[in-house]
Amino acid sequence: MRVCVPRESGPGEHRVALTPETIARLGKAGFEFVVERGAGVLAGFPDDVYENAGARLAHRGEHLEGAEGVMRVGRPSTEEIEALAAGTVLVGFLQPLTDTEGIARLEQRGVVAFAMESIPRITRAQSMDALSSQATVAGYKGVLLAADRSPKLFPMLMTAAGTIAPARVLVLGAGVAGLQAIATARRLGAVVSAFDVRPAVAEQVESLGASFLDLEIRGEETEGGYARELTPEQQEAQQRALEERIPDFDVVVTTAAVPGRPAPRLIPASAVESMRPGSVIVDLAADTGGNCELTSPGHEIAHAGVTIVGLTNVPSLMPQDASRLYARNVVALLEHLAPGGELMLDFTDEITSGACVAGRPKETAA
Ligand code: NAD
Repeated sequence: MRVCVPRESGPGEHRVALTPETIARLGKAGFEFVVERGAGVLAGFPDDVYENAGARLAHRGEHLEGAEGVMRVGRPSTEEIEALAAGTVLVGFLQPLTDTEGIARLEQRGVVAFAMESIPRITRAQSMDALSSQATVAGYKGVLLAADRSPKLFPMLMTAAGTIAPARVLVLGAGVAGLQAIATARRLGAVVSAFDVRPAVAEQVESLGASFLDLEIRGEETEGGYARELTPEQQEAQQRALEERIPDFDVVVTTAAVPGRPAPRLIPASAVESMRPGSVIVDLAADTGGNCELTSPGHEIAHAGVTIVGLTNVPSLMPQDASRLYARNVVALLEHLAPGGELMLDFTDEITSGACVAGRPKETAA
């Protein structure tokens, strides 16, 4: 199977879909690679390292020639979709729940598209779970951003000049990103509390050395382990409860999300205004609108002395290891779709069928 790795075109995207390490490994397993020049440069993988790993380098315009598979991080632009031949297997974060136009374009073009976010979260597919791998990076980086923007030290320090109290950190949403944020803030020495609407996570929060903040709001959990959206009454109660508790914290890292929906609004402007000057909010849900009412996606703002970091695509701020993890997820999917380098799409398989968002042969309709 000939596989192409294009240079990403999304704004601020520094990651690359396959690393030289994964290309060298798959090269021995029956795959051939064409890498667009410059594809890995921003992630710290220059062209010559890809060449040494066995890939052929190509300029844009030539890179897709003969490609049966195209591995990307972000969704392709309209022009990039037009350049794909019918029958091409495309893999990437294709945003199937929110980018219906893009998916329709892929369908029209006859591209067989697999969305990383649609891979079922079953044990057999754990090695392909790019939502988790990238959320792990985001949770870690989110805390580093918070520590950097905070005027306070995170650990308790006992010095000759006296004692400094540890920073108090609140993590909202204790899924994959939230749990990593808790672990990272703990490693930096902060005193950490966390909240999630899924009560089942309380134990995981406590096992990381944080305390579960009980806001007395319990949401429902879907079969896949995701949270359901709260009712408007519950949302209001949550905002009120947070408004009361939030002034106790120096730093808030928010990660709450409901798949396919805008991020739940947890922190109203009034809660921000109740925080001490110098407090920091890092809103890791900024990509889907933000958990804080005042978050400006893509920006960092100050409001009443509180810094609100709404940077988007946070995993791309750690492009090297984010790419390493993502590439391993892509490899696991690729080996599943094309064992031994021979494309063999079996739409009766739960992973292949679940991840396919366009171009499925009619007779295999789900
Ligand atoms: P996510 O990114 O969709 O959401 C992040 C967190 O926000 C979730 O824990 C969710 O409960 C929480 N949340 C939603 N609304 C909220 C609100 N109003 N207030 C506070 N918190 C709110 O979720 P995720 O991190 O991708 O994963 C969530 C869960 O999915 C995991 O904890 C696990 O149960 C399951 N999962 C399973 C696998 C697997 O089996 N392979 C892998 C990863 C995750």
